[in-house]
Amino acid sequence: MDDPVSDAASLTPELVRDELREWLGDNWDPDLSLLDWRQRLVSSRWAVPSWPARWHGRGWPAWTEDIVAAEMARQGVVGTPVGSGMGLVAPTLLAHGPDPLRERFLPAILTGQETWCQLFSEPGSGSDLAGLTTRAEADGEEWVVNGQKVWNTSAHHADFGMLLVRTDWNAPKHRGITYLALPMDQAGVLVRPLRQINGHASFNEVFLTDARAPLDHVIGDVGDGWRVAQTTLAYERRFGAFFSGRRYDPAPRRAFAEARAEAEEHFKPYIWYPQRAGRVDLLIEQARTTGQAGDPVVRQAVARTLALQKVSGWTAERARVARATGRQPGPEGSIGKLALSGVARSAAAAHSLIAKSSALLAGPDAPLAGTITEILVSVPAQSIAGGTDEIQRNILAERILGLPREPSDDRNRPFRDLPRNL
Ligand SMILES: Cc1cc2nc3c(=O)[nH]c(=O)nc-3n(C[C@H](O)[C@H](O)[C@H](O)COP(=O)(O)OP(=O)(O)OC[C@H]3O[C@@H](n4cnc5c(N)ncnc54)[C@H](O)[C@@H]3O)c2cc1C
Repeated sequence: MDDPVSDAASLTPELVRDELREWLGDNWDPDLSLLDWRQRLVSSRWAVPSWPARWHGRGWPAWTEDIVAAEMARQGVVGTPVGSGMGLVAPTLLAHGPDPLRERFLPAILTGQETWCQLFSEPGSGSDLAGLTTRAEADGEEWVVNGQKVWNTSAHHADFGMLLVRTDWNAPKHRGITYLALPMDQAGVLVRPLRQINGHASFNEVFLTDARAPLDHVIGDVGDGWRVAQTTLAYERRFGAFFSGRRYDPAPRRAFAEARAEAEEHFKPYIWYPQRAGRVDLLIEQARTTGQAGDPVVRQAVARTLALQKVSGWTAERARVARATGRQPGPEGSIGKLALSGVARSAAAAHSLIAKSSALLAGPDAPLAGTITEILVSVPAQSIAGGTDEIQRNILAERILGLPREPSDDRNRPFRDLPRNL
């Protein structure tokens, strides 16, 4: 760390902005390599001011992050990388440790030197994630992992996987799971892309055959992986935040150019995500160009979708403000995720109404060169990724409304005795 840090209690937005401007004036240099720049940013503690002082932050309140991000964006300064390292792994490590893994992984997440993917879902365990059967057994100084994961976005270019494995088959279902940091570049890890109905291949199936992870690569504690995974999933439902795009200078100097290349590589698997969200932005224009802007049924469908989007935006804003006051993401993230599914479905229905049977055409002659078709086949993913709509409703019912849990007899019996998919 190379500058004095103001006391959190005396902070005001102006003070934060002034201190940052002074520091950027002395330090921001777009001709540095991206790595050199980010190392400078991290060692100054401006990269993540709300993180604890011990872990590259300033221990400042969460609202200071927004001030810092806005000022850096205003000046066109490159910040921390996008992706699941910053979005999911870092908050999980900060919450659960242990310290040696925080030391090992946080710096390379902050600089973008190491990237991550999520290895949670399995062919027989998606919604029923706690039913996972990928196993890890300790062997000397290593875990030996066998099993299969699926739907793993970006696994093809990740350095590490957030891996959930079963380490105790005699413990009840939710208590025999461990959360490992798995090195992806090894012979025991086979990553195969899955081609989707919309033609893209953004996720993969991952086969683990005697794959190895160091014994101390356990995030949280052995057997406590379910609780640790809840932190990751809560951050994943915190919609909007970690897929936000970033703009870079059109004639970039070195740090910009490298950051743009990094972002382009990162966003390749997400190229269809705007279609997945329903492309509400195209509705009015499509209604006008097809001469249907005066049709009362079309008008109603478009207005309904725009209204839903507006309300969903307010829900997102409430979540953003809650974050700025330092609240950890909780079950209310499920409300936002459900709202986005509703917007996407409503937009897809409105697009079909406007495009009529030509909504089924793909290729360059189709409406918007096939974009409408891509919307229709991509929207269902919105209500599946990160937990399906039904699972979000279960979370809201049980954790917010306090309704009884779904009946089950699997909570206290050893996992090995439970009936499960083979
Ligand atoms: C775009 C996308 C990206 C993804 N990225 C990743 C990733 O990076 N890493 C990863 O590990 N996974 C990823 N996934 C997987 C995702 O988490 C799972 O698809 C999801 O949890 C659902 O599991 P499943 O597909 O096995 O469906 P299932 O669990 O088999 O569900 C089938 C149907 O049954 C319903 N259902 C199941 N249980 C209940 C219940 N208790 N009550 C009511 N209804 C129920 C579901 O709602 C659904 O409609 C991704 C998925 C998508 C679509």
